[in-house]
Amino acid sequence: MNTRALDRQTIGELERFLRDDLARLETSLRAIARENRTAEKTGLTDVSLHAADTLQTEMQVTLVDRRTRQVAQILDALERLSHGQYGLCQDCEGFVGVARLRALPFAQRCRECQSQTEQRARREALAPRPELPGELEAA
Ligand SMILES: [Zn+2]
Repeated sequence: MNTRALDRQTIGELERFLRDDLARLETSLRAIARENRTAEKTGLTDVSLHAADTLQTEMQVTLVDRRTRQVAQILDALERLSHGQYGLCQDCEGFVGVARLRALPFAQRCRECQSQTEQRARREALAPRPELPGELEAA
């Protein structure tokens, strides 16, 4: 048990934190769903109202998307917790670290692997596309 350097009390604390977070996210998602149902029922017909509504819907979609991903991360963390895999890095299988888990209880990677993943994602996002030489700059 001590190989992961997480004592029962710390695990209990983090689990409570995860469950609180999960409850909060689910409440928020339910509230958004309820709001959407109400909006559908009132059936906005005015064009400007409709435009505002579309913008709001787009923002909500982004919000729902982010919250849904957070819920998935938390459920994943709780799942790992129940299998005794909690706190282990997904990539190098090293211990993520208590300080990092306290800050980010659903962290899936250690600091090092996370920053490598982020760097890789940034490089891919910024990478020039060799199959389209110069076209992006010309546009
Ligand atoms: Zn790692």
